[in-house]
Amino acid sequence: MIPSLIITIDGPAGTGKSSVAHRLAQRLGLEFLDTGAMYRAVALVAIEQQLSPDGGRGLGAAIEREPPRFDWTTSPPRLMIGARDVSDRIRDADVTAIVSRVAACPEVRRHMVALQRAAAMEHPRLVTEGRDQGSVVFPDAALRIYLDADPIVRAQRRGEQLKACGRPAGEAEILQGILSRDRSDSDRSEGPLRVPIGAERVDTSELDLEGVVDCLESLARNRIGQRLTHSAVATDRP
Ligand code: C5P
Repeated sequence: MIPSLIITIDGPAGTGKSSVAHRLAQRLGLEFLDTGAMYRAVALVAIEQQLSPDGGRGLGAAIEREPPRFDWTTSPPRLMIGARDVSDRIRDADVTAIVSRVAACPEVRRHMVALQRAAAMEHPRLVTEGRDQGSVVFPDAALRIYLDADPIVRAQRRGEQLKACGRPAGEAEILQGILSRDRSDSDRSEGPLRVPIGAERVDTSELDLEGVVDCLESLARNRIGQRLTHSAVATDRP
């Protein structure tokens, strides 16, 4: 049996977590789990089924009927609802606008945490990124990282990303959205955005994507290099 090895990357919106986590996973030969995409999928379900983004019950039932799942044969894994690939649709502004409200519902979080732990059972060598991965979902992960950056830099990055995929938006509007999501993600009672105990904090304000990945790769090789070569027997599962 392959020993499990989990690296968590948490942090606020716009720190480049998804791109960084995917590139880091590729360099280290691990798989990649984008948990923000899962909350976005639930927000999309709320929009399409006209369910309240604040009402956990209807959403909980909808998740039970058709939980979001990843197609692990693609890299990065595409996000599916049933047979439909929603990976691009979940990046749209209407989803982004309500996702933090959906993510604040305790029932939604309980479902997502269970799905994330189940994913880690099937894919035990994983870089997983989100808001609560090192603090709640995998507190015993081999390496816990917290990425941060100046909010203005985060808004600029998000603006460039949106422009690159043909969905330009004003920087002031993006900054406001980011600050409001930060607030809502940090203030909620369940799974709030926190620096996990024992996490390595990395400020990415002055670094480009490859610079951040270089930094995290050397951190991982220094801290858990032996385990990256399959030699360990410990488990990271809660
Ligand atoms: O990372 P991304 O911006 O795609 O995440 C979208 C939203 O999903 C976040 O603003 C947050 O509200 C929620 N989220 C969460 N817990 C996670 C991952 C994302 O609450 N582990």
